[in-house]
Amino acid sequence: MSIFQFVKESVSVLSVVQEHTTLKQAGIYWKGCCPFHAEKTASFTVSPHREIFYCFGCHAGGDVIAFIARLENCTQLEATKILIDRYNLKPPQEYIQEIASTQQILDQKQRYYKLCTVVTQWCQQNLANNTAARQYLTNRSLSTEIWQRFSIGYFPANRSLKSLMSYCQKENILMQDLMETGIVAEGKSGLYSPFEERIIFPIKTATGDFCGFGGRIFLDHDERPKYYNSKENPHFAKSTILFGLDLAKKEMQKTDHVFLVEGYIDCIAMVQHGFTNTIATLGTAFTAEHLKLLTRFIQQIYVIYDGDNAGQQAILRLTELAWNANLELKVVTLPEKEDPASFLEHGGNLIKLVQDAKDIYSFFVTTSSTLYNVQRLSDKLQSVKKVTALIARLQDPLKRSILLQETAQAFNIPLDILKQEMQFTHKPSPENIIPETNDGIAENQLFILGAIVNNTALLTMTVEQLIPYFSVSVQQVLIMLRDNKQEASEHNVAPVLALLNQEQRQLVMHALMYYEQHTSTSFETIVEQMQKKHWKHLIQALKEQLAQAQQEQDDVKMKMIVEQFQQIKQKITEGQ
Ligand SMILES: [Zn+2]
Repeated sequence: MSIFQFVKESVSVLSVVQEHTTLKQAGIYWKGCCPFHAEKTASFTVSPHREIFYCFGCHAGGDVIAFIARLENCTQLEATKILIDRYNLKPPQEYIQEIASTQQILDQKQRYYKLCTVVTQWCQQNLANNTAARQYLTNRSLSTEIWQRFSIGYFPANRSLKSLMSYCQKENILMQDLMETGIVAEGKSGLYSPFEERIIFPIKTATGDFCGFGGRIFLDHDERPKYYNSKENPHFAKSTILFGLDLAKKEMQKTDHVFLVEGYIDCIAMVQHGFTNTIATLGTAFTAEHLKLLTRFIQQIYVIYDGDNAGQQAILRLTELAWNANLELKVVTLPEKEDPASFLEHGGNLIKLVQDAKDIYSFFVTTSSTLYNVQRLSDKLQSVKKVTALIARLQDPLKRSILLQETAQAFNIPLDILKQEMQFTHKPSPENIIPETNDGIAENQLFILGAIVNNTALLTMTVEQLIPYFSVSVQQVLIMLRDNKQEASEHNVAPVLALLNQEQRQLVMHALMYYEQHTSTSFETIVEQMQKKHWKHLIQALKEQLAQAQQEQDDVKMKMIVEQFQQIKQKITEGQ
């Protein structure tokens, strides 16, 4: 037994989830609206007999600890500690040490947030007393109301550290703490702060704790880099934090979309102009983690980056992230030399541009083709290859076909040639033969996987032979199950889950829930269907090979193919 098991056995997932969302009983499950993403129809399911939850919308899933970890944005161990405290659990003596160290981490985190809060307050006070800094914000057309909303501050020039110190001491924060977090550093001529003489944009976590700072220069003679951001530390990871998310969350859930911009001032200006569902990255690239975080709240992202080349390049990089996401990304194109803040300041009509926003893939095609017109031949070929590679990876055949036509037009290349190029470099793998659900797994595969996880005895020789025809992720789980059959038994999925990684666990839970909602379907029928489909494809492939062998008058090859035909035929008759 572990501390995790102790907690899981002590509190039920149903009672914990019910504190955060309303659930209704539906047979052996409970259903409700997902606390992790915006939705109108209930797709969040809790299965009390298995002690797990799963959302068919955003695919969040797991046990009671995973639920709290996701909700509080913390680690499993921290979530465990939270549950112990909240439900007043009394863990056995041997776990006390483990919990004590978690408590230490939690305390450190709280201390760090407190420190950031105190520094924010001090900077806000300083802004109130500095005319030049206030003038700068006014010149950028930011209202005093919006300064408040974003807790904007000012870090004064040298000799201000004494004032900061005495302010912090009242809250039991020491110079050592400020140095550890990089707010104060040691320079050649003593202590200083890299934030000195900068406008301060405090950064908050999704749950609203101050966790870092962005500092911008504003005086004419200042030649230092435009921005200085807090350095990464265990409580501040730029790849998982988005500026403004805590304030935008509510509106995001209401509207089901978000505006993504690149800078603090862009974000603040957008909010001031009524686009309250706006967020920004922290001077770094948008990451897959950011994307994952956003899927909890919305379905659609409007990307509004600068009209310059760097902004456009950043969008092209985003395209690569987009194809794996369950989100729709649209690009709002600003006039060249404008950023969102300047565009709004000049009275630009952003709503019109949002209405004209382009699907990110179409944007990718047109932007690539614009670059292509000025490129050398080798670069041109490279561009076409890149675009067709992108299109080939899309799951939706309709989208693929539309984009291919757009590409043919934009690059002025005959459609047939593009189609050939795509087929040549990207032969569909067997998994693509079966129609897929939006998360890339065919429903019959989900059903079979769910049934087998529920009862591993169903993993017979017949099914094992079909393994190569499943999606790669399903294959991996099935192989794991096949090799560890004795570990699993009917209706006890815990030993199975223990063998899998986080993603596989989510897949298994999705499959289980899918299976349990389709129990009237016969397992044998689905397997048979899959088998038939598989044979059909095999026969089709052999027919094509045979035609080619006939054309080449290759007798040996023809004989081999005919033999294979007979083998399959025999298999089919045996199967019936
Ligand atoms: Zn969800």
